[in-house]
Amino acid sequence: MTTHVIHDIFIAGGGINGCGIARDAVGRGYSVFLAEMNDLASGTSSGSTKLIHGGLRYLEHYEFRLVRESLMEREVLWSMAPHIIWPLRFVLPLHKDMRPGWLIRLGLFLYDHIGGRKALPATRTLDLKKDPAERPLKDRFARAFEYSDCWVNDARLVVLNARDAADRGAVIRTRTKVISARREDGAWSIQIEDGVTGRTETVRAKLFVNAAGPWVDKLLQGTAGSNVHNVRLVQGSHIVIRKKFAGPNAYFFQNNDGRIFFAIPYEEDFTLIGTTDQDYKGDPANVKITDAEIDYLCAGASEYFREPVTRADMVWNYSGVRPLYDDGATKAQEATRDYVLKSDGTADEPQLINVFGGKITTYRRLAESMLEKIEAALGVRGKAWTSGATLPGGDFDRNGFDGLLAQIRQQYPFLSDIQAKRLVRLYGTRAKTILSSARSAADLGTEFGAGLTVREVDYLMDEEWARQPQDVLWRRTKLGLKFDQQGVEALDAYMKSRVSNGLRQAAQ
Ligand SMILES: Cc1cc2nc3c(=O)[nH]c(=O)nc-3n(C[C@H](O)[C@H](O)[C@H](O)COP(=O)(O)OP(=O)(O)OC[C@H]3O[C@@H](n4cnc5c(N)ncnc54)[C@H](O)[C@@H]3O)c2cc1C
Repeated sequence: MTTHVIHDIFIAGGGINGCGIARDAVGRGYSVFLAEMNDLASGTSSGSTKLIHGGLRYLEHYEFRLVRESLMEREVLWSMAPHIIWPLRFVLPLHKDMRPGWLIRLGLFLYDHIGGRKALPATRTLDLKKDPAERPLKDRFARAFEYSDCWVNDARLVVLNARDAADRGAVIRTRTKVISARREDGAWSIQIEDGVTGRTETVRAKLFVNAAGPWVDKLLQGTAGSNVHNVRLVQGSHIVIRKKFAGPNAYFFQNNDGRIFFAIPYEEDFTLIGTTDQDYKGDPANVKITDAEIDYLCAGASEYFREPVTRADMVWNYSGVRPLYDDGATKAQEATRDYVLKSDGTADEPQLINVFGGKITTYRRLAESMLEKIEAALGVRGKAWTSGATLPGGDFDRNGFDGLLAQIRQQYPFLSDIQAKRLVRLYGTRAKTILSSARSAADLGTEFGAGLTVREVDYLMDEEWARQPQDVLWRRTKLGLKFDQQGVEALDAYMKSRVSNGLRQAAQ
């Protein structure tokens, strides 16, 4: 089937970059069609360390442009989505086997000053003998620096960008794979395949954006038909363990090999530890943590924490593949984290623009740079608008989380503390859309486990493109950490019954 409509922009890939570009473009008046072969954020964008950060260590590689842009984005993104993005203080313990204290202090001075920091607190020095941050750490650490960055729920950031893009008129198709694309009669003809029905369709567009993350070269081979090599695939893995410390701080540790890694409070009851960096050669869809990575992270964390971290502490793990622009660096950890947008096509033929590299942190700025290229090809339609425009559910003061939570608790007194907090964290003001006129817990329908009810699942299926239990349990929420097999089966049966009863298509 070929549609006769010619969209302005076709985007391949529903990760943070594809969805961020879709949102920006449709908000400026372009018509947009986005295809994601699996679930939104099922690629790298749900496998990150989940930090909106300048990247202290990138200063060592003189990546000042990237660090400055990233630092500036922290406060912009926090204000756009304060339910899923919030400040974190990082404790960086000092010891003799690491980079010298004066060098780290200099780095943190730059970190505090080159990125327009206004609301985030500045760096300070901690006396670990007196400070509560010391408690989980071994006695040998006497001094630390404490600095600011932000936390982000990465998978939800993707979905909220997609939701906002769809609300503004973009077509978002999940479980839809781009199988070929060619220039034909002055436009792109892109063949897509529905992953559920197997049906194929041809979509026409004036411009094609390849935002396929680690698959970017593969897609390019399929369209350009040549042997291309632009990205270096670098695996990074994390382990999740039962909470090792009670405080709100995260920790920044340095390993004996000079690499750094984080230990971060996670989902109330857990600690997230990562990441690793190693070149990856396989299919990004099959990436899995290795035994060596688990041992590396356990050993690294055990150097710092009073209580050792062992495999037995691990309740979950995940891996992602960074699609880094291949700048020829020798070590995986030294390859640039900056992004590169490359156009392909002469001025008089339909453009293809590829996204190489990038970070969650810089997705909004990457989209703005992409829009400059799109404007050059299709003409200007509207101004840059995303800085300051809140994402769905984020329309409350960035320091107003407790106030919103109190409001929800008052309006829906039957919710438990945990459930109310979870809903506000995930959905912000849209928690009210889910809860709507409910007057009792029974009004929310059957509970599948860990506070997840029919009402919430319906919302995720109708508004957030969730189709399978893992979409709900591991991307829209992280309730997979708390679900048992029986709960998963009940959820699966419910979601299947809704799909077969002709679920209303998530608004396009
Ligand atoms: C271990 C690790 C830690 C990280 N930590 C951080 C961090 O703390 N902070 C930060 O800012 N960044 C971090 N990053 C980087 C960040 O996660 C990535 O740069 C970002 O998620 C890349 O997004 P993307 O949209 O380009 O790719 P992806 O999220 O992979 O999206 C690409 C999408 O394209 C789809 N696709 C591929 N081929 C096709 C096709 N033929 N048809 C349709 N769809 C297709 C895929 O299914 C996928 O969903 C980290 C990365 C890793 C791996």
